[in-house]
Amino acid sequence: MDECSIAPVSGGRWLPLYSVLGPGWIGSPHVTGSPPPDTTLWERVQEELQSNLSKPTFETWIRPARCLASRPGRLELEAPNTFAAGWLRRNYQGLIAEVASAITAAPVEVVISAAEGSEQQPLPPMAEAAPKPGPETSSNPGPLPRLKANLNPRYVFQRFVVGPNSRMAHAAALAVAESPGREFNPLFLCGGVGLGKTHLMQAIGHYRLEIDPTARVFYVSTETFTNDLILAIRKDGMQAFRDRYRAADLILVDDIQFIEGKEYTQEEFFHTFNALHEAGRQIVIASDRPPSQIQRLQERLISRFSMGLIADIQAPDLETRMAILHKKAEQEEMRLPRDLIQYLAGRFTSNIRELEGALTRAVAFASITGLPMTVESVAPLLGTGMPDGDINPKLVLDKVAEVFGVSAEEMCSSSRKRAVSQARQVGMHLMRQCTDLSLPKIGDHFGGKDHTTVMYAVQQVDKKLATDPNLANQVQQVKDLLQMDSRRKRK
Ligand code: ADP
Ligand code: MG
Repeated sequence: MDECSIAPVSGGRWLPLYSVLGPGWIGSPHVTGSPPPDTTLWERVQEELQSNLSKPTFETWIRPARCLASRPGRLELEAPNTFAAGWLRRNYQGLIAEVASAITAAPVEVVISAAEGSEQQPLPPMAEAAPKPGPETSSNPGPLPRLKANLNPRYVFQRFVVGPNSRMAHAAALAVAESPGREFNPLFLCGGVGLGKTHLMQAIGHYRLEIDPTARVFYVSTETFTNDLILAIRKDGMQAFRDRYRAADLILVDDIQFIEGKEYTQEEFFHTFNALHEAGRQIVIASDRPPSQIQRLQERLISRFSMGLIADIQAPDLETRMAILHKKAEQEEMRLPRDLIQYLAGRFTSNIRELEGALTRAVAFASITGLPMTVESVAPLLGTGMPDGDINPKLVLDKVAEVFGVSAEEMCSSSRKRAVSQARQVGMHLMRQCTDLSLPKIGDHFGGKDHTTVMYAVQQVDKKLATDPNLANQVQQVKDLLQMDSRRKRK
């Protein structure tokens, strides 16, 4: 019977998640001792949210939360497990507080906790502790465990997927790990947020230690460097500070852009840099922009940073993003349907951290609910800065029309004009992203197009987005408009 399954039935159609799940399906309400709290406010907030959030979102996160206590100015909620509690806090605490405040016409603080004993809940595989080190590292703990503990065990070369976007940076990183202090000194890695700079830089550290377990490898964020410096000045411990930083054989300094405008830190870093460089030690620096674009950075530092090799990491293309997801799935021993990988890779285009986050959520969802991971079930859970629930198909049509300069009527017609079919495809793609509608339903909104047409459009736009920055810009514009509109509605 269809009602029992959310697996695809023949013809590739998917049943919407909420049509097969009754209310409260994630777990029944907990029953504890007396006295019962006044749950009226929470019930009213729930009512309000139910009509404003998408059904899967509501059923997954909001409905299962139970009211522990409610008094003027404070609402205490309990989520069924730690994962759900964390999720609620990160994503919905503000909204709940807003709604509760609006209902009571006074500010309400919302506190969210996890049900007792919920630690027993299966944790999503990706959220587990980092994997144990492999045999080669465990048999040789190395002489400097304190420094080594500075590195995230996951950030090794073996886990880094090399694509056209990162080939050069990866090669340079490997070269530096193999022969530090030679031609690429410093190695300056730059690239946007979440593109793998920290991963690659720490991989150098790991690999160096593998080759030479006695190497003094030191990973430090610019923030830590600054804080250490301030502490040293206050406690008059400058010598200890200098000894420590200048003892490194290989220093990895992350997020150097934060040195912007910090005169004293720049001064001290300049001397640290020189001391290490002159001693032939390897320096690796990561930044979200090239040295010349860091504001208020001393000229002499710009020139120091540029004297080795500047290697940049670009946003990965679709294939690389898919390869990254494949690799993650393989590492976690998960089986992911190919279309889900394609979907995630198509939806999260410019930041690998977000891409990973989406996968983690998908896995957590499956692990908590015991449901299979499918595009249909996972899609509604993934926010992309896109507020869910408030975006309806008509709005998508209107905004696409606005940005692409064609009318909504044309998009719904059978016109094959290039501009029209481009806008139509983008419309289908965005409707897929921003609403919970099935492919056939999306087809209906475009004047009764077949679901295969919609699927093709979604794939086409995914592909083009990876290669066509113009189109990516236009799509982003539409998203921004949609976002503004739904924010306005929320207020
Ligand atoms: P950045 O420092 O550039 O902001 P990170 O190095 O922290 O980015 O990377 C963000 C996340 O994406 C990390 O979990 C990292 O492991 C992962 N990641 C980034 N690039 C790759 C890649 N090429 N292959 C595999 N994982 C990657
Ligand atoms: Mg980083």
